[in-house]
Amino acid sequence: MAAVQEKGTISIHTENIFPIIKKFLYSDHEIFLRELVSNAVDATQKLKKLTSLGEFNGELGDLKIEVSFDKKKKTITVSDKGIGMTADEVKKYINQIAFSGAAEFVEKFKDKADAKDIIGKFGLGFYSAFMVADKVEVISKSYQEGTEAAKWTCDGSTEFELSKAKKETRGTDVILHINADSEEFLDEWRLKGILEKYCKFLPVEIKFGTKEESVEDGEDKDGKKKYKTVTVDRIINNTQPLWMRSPNELKDEDYLSFYKELYPFGEDPLFWIHLNVDYPFNLTGILYFPKVKNDFEVQKNKIQLYSRQVFITDEVKDVVPDFLMLLHGVLDSPDIPLNVSRSYLQSDSNVKKISQHITKKVADKLQDMFKKDRTDFEKKWDDINIFVKYGIISDEKFYDRAKDFTLFKNVDAQYFTFDEYKEKVTTNQTDKDKQLVYLYTTDPGKQDSFIQAAKNKAYDVLLLNGILDNHFINTLEQKLEKTQIKRVDSDTADKLIDKDEKNESVLSKEEEEQVKGIFEKAINNTNMTVAVNAMATDELPVVITMSEFMRRMKDMAKMGGGGYAFMGSMPDSYNVAVNGNHSIVQKILKAETEEQKTRLAKQAFDLALLSQNMLTGADLTNFIKRSVEFVA
Ligand code: ADP
Repeated sequence: MAAVQEKGTISIHTENIFPIIKKFLYSDHEIFLRELVSNAVDATQKLKKLTSLGEFNGELGDLKIEVSFDKKKKTITVSDKGIGMTADEVKKYINQIAFSGAAEFVEKFKDKADAKDIIGKFGLGFYSAFMVADKVEVISKSYQEGTEAAKWTCDGSTEFELSKAKKETRGTDVILHINADSEEFLDEWRLKGILEKYCKFLPVEIKFGTKEESVEDGEDKDGKKKYKTVTVDRIINNTQPLWMRSPNELKDEDYLSFYKELYPFGEDPLFWIHLNVDYPFNLTGILYFPKVKNDFEVQKNKIQLYSRQVFITDEVKDVVPDFLMLLHGVLDSPDIPLNVSRSYLQSDSNVKKISQHITKKVADKLQDMFKKDRTDFEKKWDDINIFVKYGIISDEKFYDRAKDFTLFKNVDAQYFTFDEYKEKVTTNQTDKDKQLVYLYTTDPGKQDSFIQAAKNKAYDVLLLNGILDNHFINTLEQKLEKTQIKRVDSDTADKLIDKDEKNESVLSKEEEEQVKGIFEKAINNTNMTVAVNAMATDELPVVITMSEFMRRMKDMAKMGGGGYAFMGSMPDSYNVAVNGNHSIVQKILKAETEEQKTRLAKQAFDLALLSQNMLTGADLTNFIKRSVEFVA
């Protein structure tokens, strides 16, 4: 072993910074490997750069980085064939530079409660090795001719040793002597897992062990192909991930197969956006629009964040606007600060700009698709409307862009832009106060009688049955001028759009009062408010509605909306509109006994319940019994 040439004390003012590094630097100890492999990649890339600049003319050779471990010796080694370091450089880079950052960190840390806010601004990467090792050796030989290899050893105190080393080949070996608490890392599958998580797309090949592969080996005497098994390097990464390549050299198949690489079990995405920005910040990436199912939460957190091809996290909250969290794919930006806390990310101006840029790009892409092929856009609408609506609800700027391509779909599966729809319904759906009234259904099956009644009046009915449509409607009412949006069962067809056209009533005031009394007695429920109206004779005898206002408050309460929680415990209250012009009412008035009147009224009321799927239990049984009697 070479004699120790130099002993020294690492120049920082604090006795021992390693306990602090161990405790605060990263909560995930596994990232030590990401840091060391990243350094190895940097060293390799620097050498390539020097070659391209003509400053290094030697053989580059095989530049593979190798990660290995020795369970017996309890070591993990990261070896590269990059630029390497001379003894002076080791001193300069490993001792001073990194530690000056560390010293600064420690200085600031003293007064701060949340150390993580400060970390990440300092180059502490290499020192993360001390989270898992109680001794680290660096053996390095510089690319520069005539320089000697150097060996640096440090046991986690502020003391280090520097000596000459025997190393013939260019590059750096970092050897970690794993501490007792971290022996979990001396495991093939654990290490492979970490490498695949963080290093899967690094630009230099990373070898981790070997694997068996079957290769062709000539033909046998019958002309059949023969195979043999050979041992080859097991390479962890794809050095040319799709997002780093130029969009115009890529085909749809490339994007689809990359999607499969990211999400092996995923269904094919609908379409994608390839991001490529270099000013005023750096950002590349591919965002895929998946087919969103209704299980919203499961679909989140599918975007992976990289910095120069190094995986950072899949929690992209704050970097990606909330409404785009449902997208899948990768984002890569060296401008996103690493290893920092949420609060720091949120206040970072680059992060904000990136988020705004992504929003703009998504809107542009949708606009483009809409313009290029409207029919195809309509076909995709059922799958993408959730993104668009989420965006409209949560992002003012997105609304401004999206209002031209957002579509309404009606119950006949026709699609309209906002402007087209306004144009379509203005004549027939403007009320006496010059308000436009849009009608919608949340459940065409249950609300069919109301849809039919509205159609009889030549009204159009929109289908708004998505999980976000409640909020979407609220937002639209604030955005669209002089427009009300009402559920088709919120009133009788006559009153849905109040045009001040009154049907003549065949009943006198006294008769109306009488009918009201009969129905109140028959229904016998204080949550049902009875009114007798003069409706068209072809309308149903009884229509049960819940006012738009009431129902929305109930919906809000259900979704846990702020001030409406008290509504949740209130019973549903309905309006019962009795059609005074219907022939049944005449029949009820003319019935001989009180009992007959009640029975008829009850029957008419139950029919209304039945038409809305509201008749259940004993009420349903009694209704059927009564009906049988009537028929008999
Ligand atoms: P950072 O990578 O953020 O600069 P590190 O603490 O990880 O901080 O590394 C400090 C410096 O040590 C690097 O900038 C580099 O000059 C040098 N270094 C680290 N690892 C290697 C390596 N494998 N090969 C050559 N130089 C290295």
